[in-house]
Amino acid sequence: MLYENLAINNEGHLTIGGLDAVSLAAEYGTPLYVLDEDVIRRNCRTYVTAMHECFGPDAAPLYASKALCFKGIYPVVESEGMCVDVVSPGEIYTASAAGFPAEKMFFHGTNKTDADIRFALEKGVGYFVVDNHNELESLERIAGEMGIRQKVLLRLTLGLDPHTLEAINTGRVDSQFGVPVDTGQADVFVRAALDCSNISVEGFHSHVGSQIFESDSFMKQVEIFAEYSAKIQSKMGFTARVINIGGGFGVRYTEKDPQIDIPARIREVSEHLKAACAKFGIGVPCVFMEPGRSIVADAGVTLYETGGVKEVKGYRNYVTVDGGMTDNPRYALYKSEYTVLNASRAGCDADYEVTVAGRCCESGDRIAEYVKIARPERGDIIAVLTTGAYNYAMASNYNRVPRPAMIMISGGKARLVVKRETYEDLMKNEL
Ligand SMILES: *Cc1c(COP(=O)(O)O)cnc(C)c1O
Repeated sequence: MLYENLAINNEGHLTIGGLDAVSLAAEYGTPLYVLDEDVIRRNCRTYVTAMHECFGPDAAPLYASKALCFKGIYPVVESEGMCVDVVSPGEIYTASAAGFPAEKMFFHGTNKTDADIRFALEKGVGYFVVDNHNELESLERIAGEMGIRQKVLLRLTLGLDPHTLEAINTGRVDSQFGVPVDTGQADVFVRAALDCSNISVEGFHSHVGSQIFESDSFMKQVEIFAEYSAKIQSKMGFTARVINIGGGFGVRYTEKDPQIDIPARIREVSEHLKAACAKFGIGVPCVFMEPGRSIVADAGVTLYETGGVKEVKGYRNYVTVDGGMTDNPRYALYKSEYTVLNASRAGCDADYEVTVAGRCCESGDRIAEYVKIARPERGDIIAVLTTGAYNYAMASNYNRVPRPAMIMISGGKARLVVKRETYEDLMKNEL
């Protein structure tokens, strides 16, 4: 099995956190998102412990909410000592409704409207991660009107190119995120921010990309940050107290993906940062990271019911399921690979090659192609692993498919955390 929390019981069914996947599907219906809370907590602790050890007690991981945002996730990450990264007023609203303290929120986004800025200031978010000079000007003005002095980090693009997919690479110079260092524009941006009277610049932020397995891009990043901070310190007399190095550690979607030793990677980055700070003659700043995927992805399994098995002679076999791109658009978007199992026959040989297709009238509606599972029959429960991140968060109602329910399991017990959408829900805003 790809993960430790998965096993096969006496009936030959897949179990998740000790619970029978086929029984869960029968009880809660399909498609069903299953989240193992114990795995999420373990992932949070890995980061919190490693970051405290390597970067000191003020360092913290921020959970990148965009990976999986719903009310029930916030108390879990908060109780594990995480801050959160929020990218929209909708995420701020959800986190606040869940009782998450606003001062531990970091507000991201390339286009924060004046209304968004006002909303976040009213809620009292701890930090804005300012993306560009337009935002800086609006924030300065609105914070002034509201009598607030807002803490910010300035988002910089460092010109890095991690070995990852084009669609999820955000750190290059040619990017819509942040202000580039290489072109000299960052200097102007930092100067302007330091001249604002309603803004307190705490430091810098950059996010390199996603699904990254090695630490070289993070090491490069802290090196550039140290060099840049030293330059700003001598040029402008400003010392960055914080650097936020973003998220992006990868997870194992299939057996081919490596297993990352996150504490070891964080240690490498911290040693590199300390050496770089010594080299450029600056103090070591407080460090934040923003893991999203590596907190929740491997905690999630999606369960579907098989509708049919279609053998197209001379071509391939299709298995159709009662969900698809509406609950998991990642294959359609980026051809992301997944591990698929027949949860009803998990003990049988996985020797039947299939393409798993969704229920939408769209030829791109696929979850996986040419994967091997035990030959299914109509009614079998299909499990797709590693769906905790960027699945529910990216779900849609295309073809008027209601979004699935989500359950959270912990200590061998399951509880409903998101109700299944109803047909009335689909029409609730229609007049
Ligand atoms: C998406 C994103 C993250 C989280 O990335 P993961 O790959 O899910 O860890 C963190 N920070 C920023 C700014 C992001 O855009």
